[in-house]
Amino acid sequence: MAVSAAHAWTTHAIGTWQALNALPEVRSEPMVKAEPLASFLKDQGPVLEGLLQQEEQWARGHIRNYPARPEVLSYRHDKDADPSVWVHRFLSAVRANPNMPLPLYLQLQPTPQALADNHRPGLTWQDVSLHKDAHMADNKFVALRDAEFVSVLDVIATASDEPDYGLDIGLWENNATEFGQNYGFGKQPLGDPKHPASSQVSFHSGYFHESPLMYASSGALRRTFPEYRLHLWQTLARHAMLSGHSYWGWRFAGWAMHYAQDLTQPYHASVLPSRSVASMWWGDVLALTGLPQAKDEAYAQVSGRHAVLESFHQQSLLSALHKGELNHPHLLAFANLSKDQGRLVLTEFSLRDDVSKSAYAAADELDALVIKTFPMMGNEAVNGAQSVTNYSAIAQQSNPATRDALDKNLRDLSGNFGRVTRAIWRRLR
Ligand SMILES: [Zn+2]
Repeated sequence: MAVSAAHAWTTHAIGTWQALNALPEVRSEPMVKAEPLASFLKDQGPVLEGLLQQEEQWARGHIRNYPARPEVLSYRHDKDADPSVWVHRFLSAVRANPNMPLPLYLQLQPTPQALADNHRPGLTWQDVSLHKDAHMADNKFVALRDAEFVSVLDVIATASDEPDYGLDIGLWENNATEFGQNYGFGKQPLGDPKHPASSQVSFHSGYFHESPLMYASSGALRRTFPEYRLHLWQTLARHAMLSGHSYWGWRFAGWAMHYAQDLTQPYHASVLPSRSVASMWWGDVLALTGLPQAKDEAYAQVSGRHAVLESFHQQSLLSALHKGELNHPHLLAFANLSKDQGRLVLTEFSLRDDVSKSAYAAADELDALVIKTFPMMGNEAVNGAQSVTNYSAIAQQSNPATRDALDKNLRDLSGNFGRVTRAIWRRLR
């Protein structure tokens, strides 16, 4: 089945900064000392053997359709091995892409102030990511030195982007990677196995509330695993903090936040918004069950609208940040603390019962507004033209009531993004 391969929120770091900066306890958190992953593993490797074993048992007992991790991947720490071997074994034990560079670095918030204050050497997109395309090439990355002290908020925000840099690509047995053959995840359930970005979709989406007919037509929809990733990175975050490795504690925390943030995006919780089962023609169902060409167009259009929405939102956030307008309503929306009332912490199962449920419920209205605001734009975005298109200029041409409704929807979703981010902070603190 083809699914939308676009990233859920193009730059998670921007939302994470706004969401957490709203909490005084985050702003007053003492700086932490950066250390390479190998240093954390050198100190904690023997303890991680047991911890990751328990984590595997938890996943087998709690995650729907969980593909068990082959025993041979269990983490074993050999103190005499090369540090690069420790890292490789760790990434294999958590079944992430073992080629992730994971340097010590920060992403800079793109405000005039943050850019002017920076004194660290720059890094390129290729230094931090495995993706060949340059879609994040505008982000400002800078290198950290080993043992340098750094703000917790900057560590978390930077890390909250990182799962989209390749951590979860190439993990399936038909992705033509050597590790994918060994990881035991099976064949890629959703999207094109030859397209790297689509190989991460089943970890970054949660289709928990589709209709029985949709599930009946494609069992692949039941094989999405954000809960597994969220629990794993939270377990490691908590352990790293308690064992005196706060930098890795907060970096893992940022990774955990990413998956919850992704699920606040309606296009990551609903496969075909605006097409209720009642309106699906029989051809749709046939296509889902085995005649993909009849259905590909509908998916491509949804994917295109997803990309248009994100580009529009991203452009408005960046334009506010570049001008230093930190009180722009789209930025403030991430810091809407009234969203937190009564939902202060987030468990693994909140992803399914709360986060993806709200996102699924919002999908039809949002999709209809995208169609109205950007008529005919879906196909263009699919063809890669979104980076040069001025979306706010196009939105200006639409009916003001539609535009306001779309803005309100986006602010509401950003509020949910902020809420889940703070809920994970509170759970780990
Ligand atoms: Zn993602």
